[in-house]
Amino acid sequence: MPSVFSLIAAGEIPCYKVAEDERFLAFLDINPIAEGHTLVIPKHEVSYLFDLDDEEYVGLELFAKKVARGLQRAVPCVRIAEAVIGLEVPHAHIHLVPINSEGDLNFSKKLTLTPERMSELAARIAENI
Ligand code: AMP
Repeated sequence: MPSVFSLIAAGEIPCYKVAEDERFLAFLDINPIAEGHTLVIPKHEVSYLFDLDDEEYVGLELFAKKVARGLQRAVPCVRIAEAVIGLEVPHAHIHLVPINSEGDLNFSKKLTLTPERMSELAARIAENI
């Protein structure tokens, strides 16, 4: 059974896409903790981030770096925080979250954004990458 993120990578489930190349994909988290909260995944399904081989791990981080730079231009903030949790979806992924203080990286506090706002944010981030 493919992961939900594999289904997204295959285009079988929609997402608010931010960036992609042949190997990696970035899209908005559907339950964001901040505006612009983005997930970065390898299209190739591996459950746990730290089980990626070195080459794919470094490739994912370089892709995340490019996305983070665009994200900060699109959603002004002090820093883009990077987090790895991975308890809910067994497909390696990195969270990129715009923050202005440490307390902004709080995964128990979710925002409710309209589909229009999510589309607008995804488009603005994509334009800035
Ligand atoms: P975790 O595995 O603990 O890092 O959490 C998985 C994250 O994926 C959560 O923040 C979810 O809101 C997010 N998520 C789950 N399903 C989707 C989806 N279909 N599209 C976008 N984000 C998702």
